[in-house]
Amino acid sequence: MVRQSYTIATLGSHSALQILKGAHDEGFNTLLITTPNRIHFYEQFPFIKKIISVPNFFDYKIIENKIKDKKTFLIPHGSFNAYLSVEGNKKIKIPYFGNKQVLEWETDRQKQRNWLKEADINLPRQFADVEDIYYPVIVKSYGAAGGKGYFYAKNRKDFENKMKKFGTDQFVIQEYIIGNTFYIHYFYSPLTKKLEIMSMDRRYESNVDSLGRIPLTGQEGLKIEPSYVVVGNSPLSLRESLLPEAFAMGERVVATSQKIMKGGGLYGPFCLETVITPDQKFYSIEISCRIVAGTNLFLNGSPYSWLIYDEPMSTGRRIAREIKQAINQNKLSMIID
Ligand code: AMP
Ligand code: AMP
Repeated sequence: MVRQSYTIATLGSHSALQILKGAHDEGFNTLLITTPNRIHFYEQFPFIKKIISVPNFFDYKIIENKIKDKKTFLIPHGSFNAYLSVEGNKKIKIPYFGNKQVLEWETDRQKQRNWLKEADINLPRQFADVEDIYYPVIVKSYGAAGGKGYFYAKNRKDFENKMKKFGTDQFVIQEYIIGNTFYIHYFYSPLTKKLEIMSMDRRYESNVDSLGRIPLTGQEGLKIEPSYVVVGNSPLSLRESLLPEAFAMGERVVATSQKIMKGGGLYGPFCLETVITPDQKFYSIEISCRIVAGTNLFLNGSPYSWLIYDEPMSTGRRIAREIKQAINQNKLSMIID
C-alpha cells in the first residue's frame, strides 16, 4: 500500500504547493524542505505533513543529509536547476523522479538544439557571426533564468550599442520570432508509453507584455527597452486544428530522446516553449524537462487533462500517480534516477 509508507518531497519554491497537494491526493506522505523565512507560510497548508529547514537551496549535501527515510522520492522543479546546478542535481542520492541524463541535453544550448532539430522541431535561426545576422534578434546570456539577462535588438546599430553594456561573452544571438507565445505542458509515461497534453500557458513578462498599454506616441522619447522577466502566467487553449501538431511535436521529442540519450530518454513532465507565427507554424524557443511553473494555474486540472481524466488532474498529481503505479507494478526503476 502506498499510503503512509512512501513520502514525496520537494524544495519550498516554484511549484511545491502543486506537487505536494497532488502527492497528498494520491495518498503519499508529504515533506517540504525550505528556508526558515518561508516555514510559516508553508505551515498554512494541512496537506504538507512535515517541513524541514535548510539555510539555503544551494547545497545538495545539506538537503540530502536532512532526508533520512529511504522511501522518499524527490520531485525536481525549476528551482532545482536555478539553485542546485546540474552537478548538484546529479549528485543527489535520494530517489529522484526523472532521468538525470536529460539534464546534459537540456542545459547545453547546442545539444538541446541538436536534439530538437533531430525531432523535426522548427527552431529560431541562431547566428554565430555578427555579419550574418538578420534582424530583429534576441540575445540570451548562458544560464539566464526566467527571461533575465536577455536583450532585443532591432538592427546592427542597436545590437552593437547594447552589446557594449551586456557584460558577458557567453551568449547566443537568436532570430526574434514575431508571434504568440504558447508554453505546452506535456507528460510522458514510460509505464503506459503514452504522451498526454496536460495544459498550456503563456508567461506574463515584465515589461514586454505591458508595452501595448501605452500608445506609441506616449512611448516616444522614453527609451523603453523590452525585458522578459517572468512575473506570472495565464491559461490558454490552442486552436483545435493546431492540436495534432502540438501533440506530434511532443511525441517526436520523446522518441528522439529515447534514441540519443541513455536511461530511457525523457519522461515525466516537460514543456515546449513555443512561438506561433501567422502562418501557424510552431517555433520552439526552449524545452524544459521537468514540471514548469505555468502548470500552477491548473491545480484543479485543465480543459486538456479533463479530456483524459474524469477527475481533477494537475501535473503535480500526475507525477504522484505515476510513482504510485510504478510502485504497484514493481517498476520503480523505470521512473527513478
Ligand atoms: P523561484 O523558485 O521563484 O526562484 O524560481 C525558480 C526558477 O523558476 C527561476 O528560473 C524562475 O524564473 C522560474 N519561475 C518561477 N516562477 C515562474 C513562473 N510563474 N513562470 C515561469 N517560470 C517561473
Ligand atoms: P526563455 O527563457 O528562452 O523561455 O525566454 C524568455 C522569454 O523571451 C520568452 O517567454 C519570450 O517572450 C522571449 N523569447 C525568447 N526567445 C525568443 C525568440 N527567439 N523570439 C521571440 N521571443 C523570444
